[in-house]
Amino acid sequence: MLPLSVLQKAAGEITSFGGAGQSVMEISHRGGDFKPIIEGAESLLRELLNIPPNYHVLFLQGGGMTQFAAVPVNIAGVEAAKEKRNCTYIDTGVWAAKAASEAGKYVNVKIPASSKDKNYTCIPDAPAPSADDAYYYICLNNTIVGTKWHKLPETGSVPLVTDASSCILSEPLDVTRFGLIFAGAQKNLGPAGCTIVIVRDDIAHNAPSWTPAMLNYDIHIKEKSLFNTPPCWCIYIIGLVLQWIKETGGLAAMQKHNSEKAALLYDCLDNSKLFKSPVEKSSRSLMNVPFVFNIEDAEKKALLEKRFLHEAALAGMVNLAGHRLVGGLRASIYNAMPVEGVRALISFINQFEKSA
Ligand SMILES: *Cc1c(COP(=O)(O)O)cnc(C)c1O
Repeated sequence: MLPLSVLQKAAGEITSFGGAGQSVMEISHRGGDFKPIIEGAESLLRELLNIPPNYHVLFLQGGGMTQFAAVPVNIAGVEAAKEKRNCTYIDTGVWAAKAASEAGKYVNVKIPASSKDKNYTCIPDAPAPSADDAYYYICLNNTIVGTKWHKLPETGSVPLVTDASSCILSEPLDVTRFGLIFAGAQKNLGPAGCTIVIVRDDIAHNAPSWTPAMLNYDIHIKEKSLFNTPPCWCIYIIGLVLQWIKETGGLAAMQKHNSEKAALLYDCLDNSKLFKSPVEKSSRSLMNVPFVFNIEDAEKKALLEKRFLHEAALAGMVNLAGHRLVGGLRASIYNAMPVEGVRALISFINQFEKSA
């Protein structure tokens, strides 16, 4: 969900932005009205995340998944495919595995650790990188299985790369620990259609000559994300969301707010006999909380899930089905979800347990 105040502000400006006499959906991305929108969003992002000057901020299209290819090509691509470079990926679930599989087209992917044998219910121990790794890749928050890296791997001089699509701006993050961070907007930043890339200058300009222009960080850096038409409306909403985060107290306030929500919900699940969180306590996500019925009988479980989703929807609570690949239930409690929303879910869970 997005903050209601952001939606209301956008609604108020939908036919005429500022003094433009046009909607943000109508203005030219090269015109004077759009410049402060994209520059304002970048400077707010830099302020909130404390992004040092030797990092570039890009507003790109193609979703998080386009970065699954852009990252290996830009950072470790080589002119001749037969000399592929080594890169390390840690397998913590669907999104990490998809990124590794896409990267395999361009680099030699090594996967020294995986939690697949534990159904991805924890973050595995992260081995040290090899000296010849071009980068070391982790998915910071695993949206589908509900795990997150609470402690970052030590990668020395090997750049740490992360997909932060489902946790960006949910709490403070030390950008200097990373060579590159990317995040699709649609989970915690704004509408679908924009992906933010934060990349350190020393690794940002190495794309080989065969790189498609639209994937080439060097080009997007030189063109200040205006190489082609950017997702103007989406960047505008991201700017409003960033302003909302700043006014709410920044990332420290977000962390407090999100930790409180997550603690309430995990506590409810840990105290329930009917429901449980499948995720190990030390790996639990603040943003995505999967939960399941604590019963063996698969048929009964499926019926209960169906009833739960139906009755929850009647009570005004939607989007509680687990990801289609894993089933079960899941509450995604991104930044804009108020604590009252989590309390309402908890009281629904408790009531359901009594009546089941
Ligand atoms: C949702 C998600 C993606 C997919 O991004 P698209 O924008 O749909 O390409 C990638 N990584 C993570 C961690 C996600 O949660």
